[in-house]
Amino acid sequence: MSRCAAPLTFAMLCCACGGAELTVLESPEGLEDESVELSLDADESYARAKVGDDNSIQPVFFIPRDKTLSLAERRTLRRAFRDVVEWYRRELGTQTLNIAPFRVVNGAYTAAVYRSSAAPGGIWALAPTEIRTALGFSPWDSGHSAVVFGVGLLGWAGGDGNGSSGMAVVGVESLLRQGECFGEWWCSGDMWRGTVIHEMGHMLTLPHNTHPEGIMFFHGDYTNKRLIEHPYREKTKVKGTVFDIASP
Ligand SMILES: [Zn+2]
Repeated sequence: MSRCAAPLTFAMLCCACGGAELTVLESPEGLEDESVELSLDADESYARAKVGDDNSIQPVFFIPRDKTLSLAERRTLRRAFRDVVEWYRRELGTQTLNIAPFRVVNGAYTAAVYRSSAAPGGIWALAPTEIRTALGFSPWDSGHSAVVFGVGLLGWAGGDGNGSSGMAVVGVESLLRQGECFGEWWCSGDMWRGTVIHEMGHMLTLPHNTHPEGIMFFHGDYTNKRLIEHPYREKTKVKGTVFDIASP
């Protein structure tokens, strides 16, 4: 199914690949309240696909059972994610990523469990099953993928993919709750955006490289970072995935 990506140089890291089976899930919530969805439509102008559409990238608010995510925080995160999508649009030119509207997945475990690689396996192992229960598909089903924004995951970040499926996971605190990561080098909104871009890069099959301007080398100062076409062919690789589509 998946291979572990090389970990980002972060405090808490990918990956706990494979393995753990999750058997009990309570009250999965795949859809947000309709009125909320309507009021936030303007923030999701980048969304091209419906939930569950083949070849779409599904952004997910992942909320452990001991955490919440306010409407204001969801709005802030949607807008920041739009910056990520725009970054890819800038790099890909006439092509663009096929993004679905955000959905909520309520996790059955606490944030501490998802941060840990110990049994039952942490976010990397647990999220695909919980996403399938809530939304009807796994990020590892062919033609699907998910970018998982996990409340309480702090500096956790990881991503992996094979060109037709994949998953990226990033904590939300560096964007939304900097009081919870104060003093950490990664605790800023710009670093959060660069991290999401970088982990989505892994999800879109890109490995690390050594180019000083490359987002896959280092994710800081993200607006000045690029997908490096020569010699790494990063744009070509992203365009070779099923998630890249022609712009209208
Ligand atoms: Zn990485």
